[in-house]
Amino acid sequence: MSADIIDGKAFAEGLRGRVAAAVPGFVAKTGRKPGLAVVLVGEDPASQVYVRSKGKATVAAGMESFEHKLPDTTTQDELIAVVEQLNADDRVDGILVQLPLPKGVDEKAVISTIDPAKDVDGFHVINSGKLAVGEEALVPCTPLGCLMLLKDRLGDLTGLDAVVIGRSNIVGKPMAQLLLKESCTVTIAHSRTRDLPAVVRRADIVVAAVGRPEMVKGDWLKPGATVIDVGINRVPAAEEGKTRLVGDVDFASAREVAGAITPVPGGVGPMTIAVLLRNTLVAAHARAGIGAPEGL
Ligand code: NAD
Repeated sequence: MSADIIDGKAFAEGLRGRVAAAVPGFVAKTGRKPGLAVVLVGEDPASQVYVRSKGKATVAAGMESFEHKLPDTTTQDELIAVVEQLNADDRVDGILVQLPLPKGVDEKAVISTIDPAKDVDGFHVINSGKLAVGEEALVPCTPLGCLMLLKDRLGDLTGLDAVVIGRSNIVGKPMAQLLLKESCTVTIAHSRTRDLPAVVRRADIVVAAVGRPEMVKGDWLKPGATVIDVGINRVPAAEEGKTRLVGDVDFASAREVAGAITPVPGGVGPMTIAVLLRNTLVAAHARAGIGAPEGL
């Protein structure tokens, strides 16, 4: 058996198209474009690439992009002052502070300054708390993107056994909350879990968010399971001096057993920015006091 490939790239393109199609309606109602502000501190090359592509995608969706690039000497107080200025700026519906932040700047202190109504990354405790108690919340982009792919593939998730590997605040925990909300029976596995292969073998849905290249093997999977691979790991390629991207799942062995699987790259990765645009549009509608468009 060879698993179906879940095409996250195509789904993400569709979502971006639906967001772009909904923007003119917002502009007609409010007289302004939805706006996303991205704050980058320092020169981290990967972060620079992410910020650039977020800015481009925002403009391509017909929204306003505000980029704030600050030197890595920026103090916590200076960064907080920038966030406060964005909180007060009515043109800004979403604020994203690109992580990681330089040493000496407390991420929690900065994130807790973001107006929860503009917290399109969904990292503020108000939003994670709302998600935990089942209230309407801005939900972290990557796990929400994973859920969209799962629902697109499986439809109703009620009663399915789901194992989330990883318990980070950014992916694992919100992923588990989302699956619980869909009435899955959810297990969160992590670095201290005993006999991880046996835990994973129970699962109809496996979400791997670990950061360990090709850790989950095909013989850990229940035949027919749906596998969502969040991992992005750079490993040496066959050609000397080159690298390639792999997930947390050993794709070659997993696709022999799984029913469906996301590839790396081209699976979960492209969903993150698409959901960021979706969250920005949803935040903009909520701030303007108008209902969010359907189908997002
Ligand atoms: P993290 O380092 O914050 O968390 C990793 C989790 O994995 C921890 O909870 C830890 O307990 C668990 N873990 C570590 N070793 C383990 C082991 N041997 N067995 C079981 N569990 C183990 O990482 P994160 O921010 O949640 O990211 C996880 C992965 O997802 C990384 O590869 C990251 O690059 C990727 N990621 C991708 C996207 C995307 O857009 N596709 C977004 C965020 C993160």
